[in-house]
Amino acid sequence: MFDFDPTEEQKALIETTRRFVRERIIPIAAECDRESKFPKHVFDEAHALGFVNATLPAEYGGPGLSDLDASLIHEELAYGCTGIQTSITANTLGMTPIKLAGSEEQKRKYLGWLAREPVMVSYATSEPSMGSDVAGMQCRATKDSAGGYVLNGTKQWITNASLASFYVIFATEDPTLKHKGICAFIVERSQNGVKPGRHEDKLGQRASDTAPIVLEDVRIPASQVLALPGQGFKLAMETFNQTRPDIAAGAVGLMRRCLDECVAYARERKTFGVPIAQHQLVQAMIAEMKIRIEATSLLVRKAAWNLDNGTRDPVISSCAKAYGADSAMQTAIDAVQVFGGYGYVKDYPVEKLMRDAKILQIYEGTAQVQRIVIARHVLGK
Ligand SMILES: Cc1cc2nc3c(=O)[nH]c(=O)nc-3n(C[C@H](O)[C@H](O)[C@H](O)COP(=O)(O)OP(=O)(O)OC[C@H]3O[C@@H](n4cnc5c(N)ncnc54)[C@H](O)[C@@H]3O)c2cc1C
Repeated sequence: MFDFDPTEEQKALIETTRRFVRERIIPIAAECDRESKFPKHVFDEAHALGFVNATLPAEYGGPGLSDLDASLIHEELAYGCTGIQTSITANTLGMTPIKLAGSEEQKRKYLGWLAREPVMVSYATSEPSMGSDVAGMQCRATKDSAGGYVLNGTKQWITNASLASFYVIFATEDPTLKHKGICAFIVERSQNGVKPGRHEDKLGQRASDTAPIVLEDVRIPASQVLALPGQGFKLAMETFNQTRPDIAAGAVGLMRRCLDECVAYARERKTFGVPIAQHQLVQAMIAEMKIRIEATSLLVRKAAWNLDNGTRDPVISSCAKAYGADSAMQTAIDAVQVFGGYGYVKDYPVEKLMRDAKILQIYEGTAQVQRIVIARHVLGK
């Protein structure tokens, strides 16, 4: 049976998150964007409220929420600021490979750490010379005699790299083996040879920290090996399958914000003697926003339902991500249009929404990569 009504618990979760966004995120979002700084104290508060590691299983001390519940949190946080939201919820990306492939000891240690303290974990596949082509990574993992590995290389564009306490690092035993050489490791930031690089000065989502991680002769004991060579590529892909719906949930939040800002402005702003809300061409832009919000929400619900019910369907995850990201970008462009000249300056929030939306089409698989995933499945390749 399908049911689109939120439960009483979900209604309460939405209300609590909404209040947090209204009181703790919206008032500081413009300043964090301007100064490109992440408000760690907001992360700490979000952690105390259970918004940070929503799907971390209760047996390791986490909130143990469903993927559907987590998508509701992501959507509400994104309404306030997708930059702050991305950094608050990026632990989901970092912890998913540990949930999927970690030993019991690794789960107790690292998932337990995330549950206990407001710490961050980053996920790192991308490098300076590759992003989409995950099998083409160059960061080297060289086996040592004790069953551990030595890591050398640079990971690029890593969300929360400057702030995280540990990382899930993907590397290759031999780049010529392509996907068969990819392995994964849990790497603590305090380990010798681990150096987070310069915080990137970005177009949008400027409150979210993005930085490289340089790895120089980092010695990884066997206890921190997450996936052996040959297992890492599948782990990276399954992680994306499980986290891409979250990007779409963020897109819904961003679009809802665009719509609310546009409705309020269109009722106030007058041209030719009437509020612009009465012009049918403005109405059309606003109606399209609503259509995109509803359609993306349905895709998010279906993708989250799949994850919660153990139905593996990467096509739906990619459809949600691709459609949600493109919809958010178009909606934010239209929001600037509804505001006219005022949309183009920082006195109103819509120019930030447009800058923030763009990255949704790039990270966790670009718009083109989603089409490749979908077409491959549809064509049966
Ligand atoms: C703010 C931000 C945060 C990020 N966070 C993380 C993170 O936490 N962890 C992480 O590992 N990475 C992260 N990334 C990296 C991100 O996932 C990559 O930027 C993305 O996957 C694209 O890779 P690329 O930049 O190397 O582009 P490329 O792979 O070089 O692609 C360039 C262009 O070519 C297109 N293209 C590539 N291959 C094909 C093809 N076969 N067919 C058609 N078109 C193609 C792409 O779609 C894109 O338009 C982040 C990036 C940013 C900017």
